[in-house]
Amino acid sequence: NDEAHDSKQDDKKPPPAGINVMNVILIAAECAPWSKTGGLGDVAGALPKALARRGHRVMIVAPRYGNYADGQDTGVRKRYQVNGQDIEVCYFQAYIDGVDFVFIDSCVFRGIEKNIYGGNWLDILKRMVLFCKAAVEVPWHVPCGGVCYGDGNLVFIANDWHTALLPVYLKAYYRDHGLMQYTRSVLVIHNIAHQGRGPIDDFSLVGLPEHYLDFFRLYDPVGGEHFNIFAAGLKAADRVVTVSHGYAWELKTREGGWGLHEIINDNDWKLSGIVNGIDTKDWNPQHDVYLKSDTYTNYSLETLQPGKAQCKEALQKELGLPVRSDVPLIGFIGRLDDQKGVDLIAEAVPWMMGQDVQLVMLGTGRPDLEQMLRQFQNQYGDKVRGWVGFSVKMAHRITAGADILLMPSRFEPCGLNQLYAMSYGTIPVVHAVGGLRDTVKPFDPYNETGFGWTFDRAESGKLIHSLGNCLLTYREYKKSWEGLQRRGMMQDLSWDHAAQKYEEVLVAAKYQW
Ligand code: ADP
Repeated sequence: NDEAHDSKQDDKKPPPAGINVMNVILIAAECAPWSKTGGLGDVAGALPKALARRGHRVMIVAPRYGNYADGQDTGVRKRYQVNGQDIEVCYFQAYIDGVDFVFIDSCVFRGIEKNIYGGNWLDILKRMVLFCKAAVEVPWHVPCGGVCYGDGNLVFIANDWHTALLPVYLKAYYRDHGLMQYTRSVLVIHNIAHQGRGPIDDFSLVGLPEHYLDFFRLYDPVGGEHFNIFAAGLKAADRVVTVSHGYAWELKTREGGWGLHEIINDNDWKLSGIVNGIDTKDWNPQHDVYLKSDTYTNYSLETLQPGKAQCKEALQKELGLPVRSDVPLIGFIGRLDDQKGVDLIAEAVPWMMGQDVQLVMLGTGRPDLEQMLRQFQNQYGDKVRGWVGFSVKMAHRITAGADILLMPSRFEPCGLNQLYAMSYGTIPVVHAVGGLRDTVKPFDPYNETGFGWTFDRAESGKLIHSLGNCLLTYREYKKSWEGLQRRGMMQDLSWDHAAQKYEEVLVAAKYQW
């Protein structure tokens, strides 16, 4: 049965790259499962594999933060100047799932896997300068399967401000000198809120000719004139991608562009929105390893009702909540900060506690919000569980056991949890913003279409209104509820389609001028 299901999936897969095959090097500051703080790590771990499945030769380059079991020392040693300091790097290499992994080792990366973006600004800046200088030379120095990539049909994909220097180095060190003329760079925006900003004098650290200063110079009412790495990357890259259409639109507005909207508008011609996929090996209720236990169970479309009911019961037991199949179980998973709208949930809690519901929240972040989670649990012990921590296992179990997932994010470039929820038959209630608006089409009871509930302003009153309608449907309209669950689960949310869209951008970067 599994095989039949998989072969049906194969029929729907996009055709391979054919004559468009390329050499692709993706560089990122984090890459799951070796390093991950959020969605960027998931994307860096999955997109290269999906591109390789389409026939491209693909490499991912990431810093080596720990003593990874994967990867051999290639013996290649190079030295780079960063702010007058001469720093050595070594290149480690592995070939996994059809992808070349290159980990860059240096004393400045070692031991910070729990705190990748930590430390003072100058230390972070120096790390990223070293990483990008070392990464742009990988195609020349690091043999993979015995052969270096070279610059034949080569495209770099850089991600967020941490690697936004790479398109600038490619231009300044090579293309301005008539070298790597046909190599292209694409910069992906996962989150514009972090930009690599510093005082204008920091330009002296990046090791570029004086006339490049204008690439980095930005003025905004908050920071005044300052040095901005994202700005430079956006100008230098041949194409720019962001992780949803909705976010692509928002980036061009004053509120959504966080000071970079003018540059993004000027470069609109090279911007595309591509929604992230999900790793359907890890996040699949049929094969999920965290559901393989005495109490939880794996399930599929065919076994949705009994399977999900068993997971809900197991979750209630594991968390010590009253075991009841009829009570709607509402979940939240994510960073506890302003972006994720945790305060809107907090404002809605008194209303929720007047309803017959259970609420489970998993997250880490701001200490005051962590404290709030604990306090909700103390105050409403028979209805609320607040789990403070980063637990991949609990994230999977809540996604399977909950009936409803809340995502009231103030902004959300793509968002992965709503995608995971839908593929597990869990109904999302979300603020219609960025990737949430793109992926959660609202329920239309007349035509029985859509995947969940959305609200159009980040306000607790709006959240309550949508959640109220969702709860009514859960209680009174069982057939509609099941329809919502099944439609969500039947979507193809895998990386294959997103990879095809990335390929279109890579081809445009190479051939459309
Ligand atoms: P962001 O990258 O903005 O944090 P995303 O929704 O794109 O948000 O991705 C967040 C990823 O981190 C998801 O895979 C989510 O399940 C995971 N995650 C967030 N918080 C936790 C937590 N407390 N425990 C386990 N996983 C978490």
